[in-house]
Amino acid sequence: MSLSTPAYAAHNSTDPLVPWTFDRRDPKPNDVLIDILYCGVCHSDLHQVRDEWGGSKYPMVPGHEIIGTVTAVGSAVTKWKAGDTVGVGVFVDSCRICPNCLAGEQQYCDAGMSGTYNSFEQDKVTPTYGGYSTRITVDENYVVSIPEGISLEGAAPLLCAGITTYSPLRHWKIGPGMTVAVVGLGGLGHMGVKFAKAMGAHVTVLSSSDKKREDSARLGADDYLDMSQVDVFKNNAKRFDFILDTVSAAHSYQDYLGLLKLNGTMCLVGLPPKAEIEAFPLVGRRRSLSGSMIGGIAETQEMLDFCGKHGIAADVEVISIDYINEAYERMLKSDVRYRFVIDIASLK
Ligand code: NAP
Ligand code: ZN
Ligand code: ZN
Repeated sequence: MSLSTPAYAAHNSTDPLVPWTFDRRDPKPNDVLIDILYCGVCHSDLHQVRDEWGGSKYPMVPGHEIIGTVTAVGSAVTKWKAGDTVGVGVFVDSCRICPNCLAGEQQYCDAGMSGTYNSFEQDKVTPTYGGYSTRITVDENYVVSIPEGISLEGAAPLLCAGITTYSPLRHWKIGPGMTVAVVGLGGLGHMGVKFAKAMGAHVTVLSSSDKKREDSARLGADDYLDMSQVDVFKNNAKRFDFILDTVSAAHSYQDYLGLLKLNGTMCLVGLPPKAEIEAFPLVGRRRSLSGSMIGGIAETQEMLDFCGKHGIAADVEVISIDYINEAYERMLKSDVRYRFVIDIASLK
């Protein structure tokens, strides 16, 4: 038996998403079946729906910021029971035996992680479909627990935007006494601000306009720079220890590198399709340009527990699934405060 599952799907790179129904597998011995309550809308959904990274597979059911309730478990499941509130993020499986999987960094699996959508299960033939759907069947080891005390809609974006910003801030040991800049105040950026503040850093938002100045302060940032202003790069040269770049569109990395102190690091998490870079800004101050992709399962759980402890969740605008195409257009215009989250009840 398989489970007929209502969803929204893209059928090519140009048409709007439309209702579509597909089958989820019945839980195998190590699987849990999750009734999806909320799913966040990540800019990566838009990049992939529109095939901006190449290789998109259709029909595509996007969505990798999934919150739901366990409704059934396979015979061998030990970690979860019916009724548990759980999350599923950007991947649903990995090889489990490569050095990176063994180190708990499944997102960097040498054999290739199984993305939650636009990807394949580890058999490399069965397509995966994401959280713009009413339920999902997932191996119990790729599911995380949602702490009590944060709203479920506010928790959904933690599964991608949250872990993607938390992981590099931890990796580069961000803490008191450090100056951090977050470039782009969108879904990822606003989480980066919250985390960097909670870790004790001095945080500055670098935004493409002046529109988000008040929000930035409300989110906890200490300072705000409108990067469209004349001389802003010159006036803030050599100011930051660490820059977290969350921008989704092509922009000049070398201009931002000039804002780093000696030995500073700029970490890219934003994924515009094209990036150009010059050597001089790096060489001239022994700066590092790096990148980071989501986080492993254990670190995702650590991040969620950190959120529970510090009362951190995303600022969200809850939408009905039939608003998704408009939501994409607004996301393209940086008009999100600060994450759209789909109420999956609107699909049921
Ligand atoms: P988002 O909510 O749309 O935010 C992106 C922000 O970038 C915007 O709010 C805007 O901030 C800024 N921006 C957009 N267009 C710009 C432009 N033309 N020039 C300058 N700034 C611009 O997107 P998101 O969901 O946070 O995702 C951001 C990027 O991260 C995407 O490329 C996504 O694919 C990628 N991503 C990567 C990972 C990973 O593992 N590394 C995980 C998730 C997402 P301001 O209005 O403040 O300028
Ligand atoms: Zn994402
Ligand atoms: Zn692996």
